[in-house]
Amino acid sequence: MTDLNDRTFSFELFPPKTDEGMDKLKTTVQRLNAVNPRYFSCTYGAGGSTRERTFATVDWLREQDIDTAPHLACIGSEKNEIRDIVGHYIDKGINRLVALRGDMPSGMGRTGLGTFRYANELVTFLREEYGDRFTIEVAAYPEFHPQARNARADLENFKRKVEAGADAAITQYFYSAEAYFWFVEECQRMQIEVPIVAGIMPISNYSQLARFSDACGAEIPRWIRKRLEGFGDDKESIRSFGHDVVLELCQRLLDGGTPGLHFYTMNQSAPTLKLWRELGLPEAG
Ligand code: FAD
Repeated sequence: MTDLNDRTFSFELFPPKTDEGMDKLKTTVQRLNAVNPRYFSCTYGAGGSTRERTFATVDWLREQDIDTAPHLACIGSEKNEIRDIVGHYIDKGINRLVALRGDMPSGMGRTGLGTFRYANELVTFLREEYGDRFTIEVAAYPEFHPQARNARADLENFKRKVEAGADAAITQYFYSAEAYFWFVEECQRMQIEVPIVAGIMPISNYSQLARFSDACGAEIPRWIRKRLEGFGDDKESIRSFGHDVVLELCQRLLDGGTPGLHFYTMNQSAPTLKLWRELGLPEAG
């Protein structure tokens, strides 16, 4: 089995809306960076809705000399806007991108969808324009993307994205290890050979998690949902049970050979660091 040191462990952030949020994020990053993750990624709102805030976060990370993978969502943007954004990242010495279609902010309708309809078109463009300048990550969906025609079509679309030049994939979060292992096996049968890193969402706020999960099609299994609901406002019990569930999930994924874990930190350090330490993941040497 692959040594833990050969796997990729990374942290995802979102760009804060306020100066106060940015100050808090800086403290979070300092704490998380102490364990020496492979890189931090930072989300980007489709249609450029977080462009300046994503830049501010990414630029600050680069000033700390932290390996950074900005997300780049193409829907709602023209080719030249994508060129501008990538140019900015090249100036900052970035060599990794998470290439996505993104979701149009609600209310923007179907007008102004931009040059690229799907993430595979963005990956093709990035490879044509920039060659091997970037390591490109794409998204994968073990429980399938909510807009996919069916599971098979979603897998074929994923394969198309990989064939366009993606180096690796990060999954949407999930709480069923089986869903992940079935997905990885099916990808192997389809000769999709890139590493598929498991996306991990720590559980610390149930109502927020339930909202996200409805929107992105990630399933919270009934037994987990029922227990979390049963804790009501008891945040400590939610955190403690959520930690145990996610810890066991991560351990099964690592034992089953996942090439890495990508933590959706939600800009908080404590839940992710507790998992990291109890899993015995490698700390800064
Ligand atoms: P695609 O791979 O383009 O797939 C979208 C849908 O279209 C799927 O149903 C797929 O089956 C279908 N499809 C794909 N190609 C074709 C084709 N050629 N013909 C027909 N159908 C096709 N969103 C953001 O806005 N900003 C972020 O920063 C962000 N970060 C994310 C990070 C990760 C790790 C993940 C898993 C998701 C992230 N998302 C983000 C959410 C993501 O943008 C949404 O899930 C979005 O709806 C799909 O993006 P995608 O890149 O997976 O799209």
